[in-house]
Amino acid sequence: MKRRKTRGVRVGKLKIGNNAPISVQSMCTTHTGDINTTLKQIHELENAGCEIIRVSVVDIDEAKALKKIKENINIPLVADIHFDYRLAIESAKYADKLRINPGNIGSNDEVKLVVEQAKDYNIPIRIGVNLGSLEKDVIEKFGLTSEAMVNSALKYIKILEELDFYNTVISMKASDIKRTVDAYRMLADKVDYPFHVGITEAGTSYSGTIKSSIGIGSLLLDGIGDTIRVSLTSNPIEEVKAGLEILNSIGLRKQRTIISCPGCGRTEIDLAGLTKSIELATDNLKKPIKIAVMGCAVNGPGEAREADVGVAGAKNFGIIFRKGKIVKKVKKDKILESLLDEINKL
Ligand code: SF4
Repeated sequence: MKRRKTRGVRVGKLKIGNNAPISVQSMCTTHTGDINTTLKQIHELENAGCEIIRVSVVDIDEAKALKKIKENINIPLVADIHFDYRLAIESAKYADKLRINPGNIGSNDEVKLVVEQAKDYNIPIRIGVNLGSLEKDVIEKFGLTSEAMVNSALKYIKILEELDFYNTVISMKASDIKRTVDAYRMLADKVDYPFHVGITEAGTSYSGTIKSSIGIGSLLLDGIGDTIRVSLTSNPIEEVKAGLEILNSIGLRKQRTIISCPGCGRTEIDLAGLTKSIELATDNLKKPIKIAVMGCAVNGPGEAREADVGVAGAKNFGIIFRKGKIVKKVKKDKILESLLDEINKL
């Protein structure tokens, strides 16, 4: 897949843009000042595959708390700042990246102070434009449109560039897919900064994952997007899993993939239950194995011949196959165990 050419930005140990692998990020739901709880959540997210973590900074104590958080995690830390540029200035001492919202960070002079600090600490800034909090003058001119988000982003890019600052990542998010995707497509032709892409306020695990998959997926298929965040009203681990799965589905990340048929009148096993058990049992598998779970032995092995390994249900037994070729028949209660055995052999 041809990706948009962008400049590279370093966030701690990780690179964003310039053809670096697309990273998956999330945001803590904890109060950052509660350091232990925040660290616990970050560690859980690291284990789930999160590659960049963002935390909100709402006061100066939370900005100072970043120091201890940073010292005790293994992934880059981003400080999310709204309303008070002074928090950005303090956070820059400890965080690997700042996210500021141009719509509410303050005057141009205050933004300039933040930029100078980011320069001093050699960390990037994400200009995180959000349709819901655009500057007044931009709304007056463009309304709540994609153009407005692009205009806001360009305005702040200009401020940063005038200060000789190019260590920038851009995001422009709305809660609807069309305006978000249009904005990224528009800006993609105008600048070469890497993009953080996502749909904001996307909703619950179910609807939010669908919306994010369409929005982020459309952009990624266009070659647009250097780091992604799926925003869900849910445990952020769900965001990370969804993000990794979006990349996996498009072929931009190789990890364990489960393919399963929908089932029909020929289904001879508890297809949904078995698929769920296999998904859970192989959740931490690091190898990019394709596992098939098919409901019947008539069509299953053939239809899933692209899978490395799979199972097809038959009356009272299961058929384990590899690349469409039958390896063995096993009793119904041994299907999961035998399939895992076969996976281990791979
Ligand atoms: Fe039906 Fe078999 Fe196809 Fe599954 S694999 S949908 S059970 S015919």
